[in-house]
Amino acid sequence: MFDVLVIGGGINGAASAAALSAAGAKVALVEARDFAGFTSSESSNLIWGGIKYLETLEVALVRKLCLGRNKLMRAYPEAIKETRFLAVVDRKSRFPAMFLWLGAWIYWWLGNRFTRKPRYLSRHDIASEETIVKAANLTGGLMYSDARLVDGDARFVLNLVKKAIGFGAMTINYLAVTRLQREPGGTWTATVVDGVTGRELCLQARFLVNAAGPFADELNRQAQFETSTQHVFSKGIHLVVDRITDSNRVLTFFADDGRMFFAIPLGDKTCIGTTDTPVESPLTRVSDADRKFVLDNINNCLNLATPLTKDDILAERCGVRPLAMARSREYKTGQWLQMSRKHVLQASEKLGMVSIFGGKLTDCLQIGGEVCGALSNFGCQLQMGKWYGEPGLKSRDRFAARLREVIQIPEQNIDLPWDRLWRMYGVGAIEILESILSENRGAELVIRPAKICRAELELIRNQEMVVTLEDFLRRRTLLAQTHGLSELASMPGIRAACEVLFGNQAEQRYEEYFQMHPPIEIQSSHTNKNINAKVEVVRKP
Ligand SMILES: Cc1cc2nc3c(=O)[nH]c(=O)nc-3n(C[C@H](O)[C@H](O)[C@H](O)COP(=O)(O)OP(=O)(O)OC[C@H]3O[C@@H](n4cnc5c(N)ncnc54)[C@H](O)[C@@H]3O)c2cc1C
Repeated sequence: MFDVLVIGGGINGAASAAALSAAGAKVALVEARDFAGFTSSESSNLIWGGIKYLETLEVALVRKLCLGRNKLMRAYPEAIKETRFLAVVDRKSRFPAMFLWLGAWIYWWLGNRFTRKPRYLSRHDIASEETIVKAANLTGGLMYSDARLVDGDARFVLNLVKKAIGFGAMTINYLAVTRLQREPGGTWTATVVDGVTGRELCLQARFLVNAAGPFADELNRQAQFETSTQHVFSKGIHLVVDRITDSNRVLTFFADDGRMFFAIPLGDKTCIGTTDTPVESPLTRVSDADRKFVLDNINNCLNLATPLTKDDILAERCGVRPLAMARSREYKTGQWLQMSRKHVLQASEKLGMVSIFGGKLTDCLQIGGEVCGALSNFGCQLQMGKWYGEPGLKSRDRFAARLREVIQIPEQNIDLPWDRLWRMYGVGAIEILESILSENRGAELVIRPAKICRAELELIRNQEMVVTLEDFLRRRTLLAQTHGLSELASMPGIRAACEVLFGNQAEQRYEEYFQMHPPIEIQSSHTNKNINAKVEVVRKP
């Protein structure tokens, strides 16, 4: 019997599980796909205060998001980096550049002046500082700061899941809740189906946290939780192309429909997006119209020798923002972009259940805290402690000491991306070094182009619950987001990596991925349209 069953291993479920288990609750976290296998691996990777919501005068939301951003930046100085945003304004813009510049100052103050100051740029400044931007039609621009997840959203979520494990939580991916039943004594019985074996089993818990993101309404129905909030879905896509500029800035433009869109550094590539389209179902894919919208807009804004075309797309990201909306409210066409992006928590003491609506990666710390607050009000014994953040100085010193030993191994000249290893794995990076020290082949580069060594793969295999090759290529690393499929297929070391990760199932996992089969088709003996839907790998061959 668990104290709390958290359903959904996206950012909100991972944050809830980490916060609750750190506070002493016995937690189970189950995820129907891979951790971060849905919305939380399709975001823009930004940790930001939502400057654009100033346009709809959501000052309180912007203030909250800015404070959430600052807290995350303080807690994750390696994984979350302050990034300069260059926003350019052209003659068609609804606002003059000076007006937006004023907005950037307000934004900076709302964020407690935590980042570097905003700066106004004339058309000439832009032309000389960011030559890739077409300056002819610009009236000016501004430079301001927000932050981004250097290794991507999915890695960030996974590290929170690992935090929860560290505090004693049981976390399982590819395990879908298919039925929820409230027992007469007040406990919950959840029927879960193992997506790998198809086996059905039951989990019992005193409290439920519904963190199923876009699928939360469906689960609330199953639990007979009548909420006054529901989700509507906004589809957003990104296209990944070769780096368009060496500056590490995010370039910000205004698209034809007036909304902001970005060119964001992603590894050594650029991720361009996003769109904001109302859709009925969370299960979406990138359409030709989406691609055309993004490509046309970016081509309009950049000085490229040849415009970007579909052939330049290396990978695509596609997700739906689950937006919280009061059931009493009618959504009206034309108001879409004005819809609030606030999260809402609904709790029922009678049911012992909390449901999370909406939310952003940026407000995950707040959501973790709010979930603990709600369950503590229901009588769940919790003692709030620190549940997030990168390892402290002591661990960093241990890492540095081990690193000195590794570098001094005679005649080996080991050269690995040490900063990346520390950033991605924290104390796990110390284990990588120890394994290199104790095992001859630990430092051997298995995927040479990405500098991924055997010891890193072993850590991923042992600690990161990789079930399919897609889990590894897309969510444990950025490989499948920064390389086209054919490039990946010919990349030396992928097969060898499969052997380390999957042992005697290596060949099967490799074939499954490259034949573009969905990694796992969630099996279920119950009819649940959403869960049974194939989890497709939306990639360009
Ligand atoms: C295009 C786009 C760009 C965005 N950009 C940003 C950004 O830059 N910054 C930012 O802060 N936010 C951004 N967001 C918002 C943010 O990504 C989402 O709000 C957030 O990821 C939602 O997280 P979640 O945990 O609620 O949902 P999800 O990540 O979808 O997690 C819910 C999980 O529940 C699982 N699940 C569902 N049903 C069951 C079941 N029955 N049993 C077990 N598991 C189940 C699903 O498989 C899923 O993995 C963006 C969103 C989109 C779509």
